[in-house]
Amino acid sequence: MFWNEEFETLPKEALESLQLKRLQQTVAKVAASVPLYRDSFSKSGITADKITSLEHLRDLPFTVKQDMRDNYPYGLFAVSLEEIVRIHASSGTTGKPTVVGYTRKDIDSWSELMARSFVAAGAHKGDVIHNAYGYGLFTGGLGAHYGAERLGASVIPMSGGNSKKQIMIMQDFGSTVLTCTPSYSLYLAEIAAEEGIDIRSLKLKVGIFGAEPWSEQMRGEIEAVLNLKAIDIYGLSEILGPGVGIECIEAQAGLHIWEDHFIPEIIDPETCQVLPPGERGELVITTITKEGIPLIRYRTRDITRIIDEPCICGRTHRRLERMSGRSDDMMIIRGVNIFPSQIESVLFNVKGIEPHYQLIINREENLDTLEVQVEVNEQTFSDEVKGLQSLANQIRREIKDLLGVTCKVRLVVPKTLARSEGKARRVIDNRQR
Ligand SMILES: [Zn+2]
Repeated sequence: MFWNEEFETLPKEALESLQLKRLQQTVAKVAASVPLYRDSFSKSGITADKITSLEHLRDLPFTVKQDMRDNYPYGLFAVSLEEIVRIHASSGTTGKPTVVGYTRKDIDSWSELMARSFVAAGAHKGDVIHNAYGYGLFTGGLGAHYGAERLGASVIPMSGGNSKKQIMIMQDFGSTVLTCTPSYSLYLAEIAAEEGIDIRSLKLKVGIFGAEPWSEQMRGEIEAVLNLKAIDIYGLSEILGPGVGIECIEAQAGLHIWEDHFIPEIIDPETCQVLPPGERGELVITTITKEGIPLIRYRTRDITRIIDEPCICGRTHRRLERMSGRSDDMMIIRGVNIFPSQIESVLFNVKGIEPHYQLIINREENLDTLEVQVEVNEQTFSDEVKGLQSLANQIRREIKDLLGVTCKVRLVVPKTLARSEGKARRVIDNRQR
């Protein structure tokens, strides 16, 4: 099933020539209207007519998050505010947020790409889409909302929070599709259980989960606990919001990135060189249809690789391997690089614990220490202390064997770690204080 069969199955050559044409238009436009690009292009002698092949993308400068902060709030907009119909911002952990503006045509393309994404995930007109992504400055809520309306589904604009009510609405309104962060879906399941409701008996058939990296093991857990197909969606507000890429329900193996709107590259985050096809590195995206805030070679900090093999679903757009994490989230513990998702993979294979964990990094006597806090389930908790001790030892050993890092493991009482209604906070790094 396709939403836009013509574009979703465009042959490679046609897709690439469309990309080239749109890239030339984008370069011409930002050179004329965005001071950051005008200055850097003129320094390096870049003009749109010199872009005669997609290979020339490599000659263009990167854009980084700091460029957006430096040009806060509207400095990177390529059109006047009169053309902007919507403004979103991503919450920076420090300081000012990153601001993005959309023209009417941008909102239209975004709705189209989200509608495509819903269909790829197995949703269709007639579905009741329970949208628990936050509505507001965050792009998740409204992005999914407009796509669901474009699709013609019945969308319930729940937003995040108020979890008991979410369960009641899902039950009473017959929600068939759930959109939220993966960690929040498990929290909803927990609340349902407390309320004595079997969440598996609801009509949910698909969950579209994104905004934070999650492991294949967590997918297994979610599918088992909620009795639905769990689909990974990718997006970031700087580029668009949700709907930059999505897994198809046919393969559930890698996220199709909509290449008629975006050009992906994979670089080595240290040297900034483009890596050979198929290698894993940092994802860089160039937008080629955006009007409000087109970005050239934006460094996403997300770690992935491009899968070039054809997909069984028939879509020709290449796939991104599921994100193993953001390079920002990578922890370096005594010289060992680890992502929270790798720890998660280990934890999800251990019996007797709950899928709720937190990683605490400290510096003690100039040495980095990692503490893994994980909740045990009710049954394990009632066991004797000896059992708990051997469980902690087992987790510590498996993390050491698989990831090469020594950590402390602290088993905690069920439901003690903080739950999030949006993005889960997995890592607390006390070294930076
Ligand atoms: Zn596919």
